[in-house]
Amino acid sequence: MGKQLRRNNYDNEFKISYSRVNAYIFCPFRYKLIYIDNLHTPVNSDISFGHTIHKTLEQFHSQKGKTWNFLMECYDDSWKSGGFLTPISAFEYYLRGQKMLSNYFNSFKQSDAEILYTEKNFDANIGKYKFVGIIDRIDKYPDGTYEIMDYKTHSKVWNQEKVDKDLQLTFYAYACKTIFGFNPDRICIYFLSQNKKVYTARTQQDIENAINISMTAAEKIAEENWTPNRSHCQQCDFKYKCRNSICVRRPPKTAQKQQEQQTIVQKT
Ligand code: SF4
Repeated sequence: MGKQLRRNNYDNEFKISYSRVNAYIFCPFRYKLIYIDNLHTPVNSDISFGHTIHKTLEQFHSQKGKTWNFLMECYDDSWKSGGFLTPISAFEYYLRGQKMLSNYFNSFKQSDAEILYTEKNFDANIGKYKFVGIIDRIDKYPDGTYEIMDYKTHSKVWNQEKVDKDLQLTFYAYACKTIFGFNPDRICIYFLSQNKKVYTARTQQDIENAINISMTAAEKIAEENWTPNRSHCQQCDFKYKCRNSICVRRPPKTAQKQQEQQTIVQKT
């Protein structure tokens, strides 16, 4: 058993999740920074807003009496103020959330689906590892079919290809089959900002591929293989902190100009 397995906080039982697999695939060194060195990624407005909306909908669906006023109460209770650059920016996000929830509420009122679970935890054995995750929502329709969904709060709707390749949805499908005992008839990402669901499907082969990807990542983590993937440095939150980064922080243009002028003066 690798040192990392002994070091983690899971009572010697290594747990892997979609977020961990995703972080490792992005860059093994990034995985190390987050999960071994406990370096936190900075909270930004999008992350903060995403947490608020997820929490709001979880609270809203956890109780009876689902009125618009109650949804707004849940929104206010769940609001997270961290990560916004200015109070104006926070207010703009707040209004955006209200509009998003208004569209959500109207669709919800028209749907005949029963919402079975929101933020449903799962815990599955994959080989010698435990795989954990949370499914945003599971619905059951009057005809007995099931729909599972992942909420996204960013403004852009992904294209079909990106939804078809999404690894998280494959793990959801796996969890439904092996833990909850049903085959999801419909799988989708619910893009709340546009009130649009994009549907996809997963075959047994897709699930097996996802398991192989997770197992490979878990094995490499156990071996403490932190070989950096520098092709992602530009998109990485640690690009100016990481010793393996290819990105160099440059002074702002005005400061750079002043520095150049000082050098010229010194030379003359
Ligand atoms: S900055 Fe580059 S090397 Fe460092 S963790 Fe991020 S992607 Fe990996």
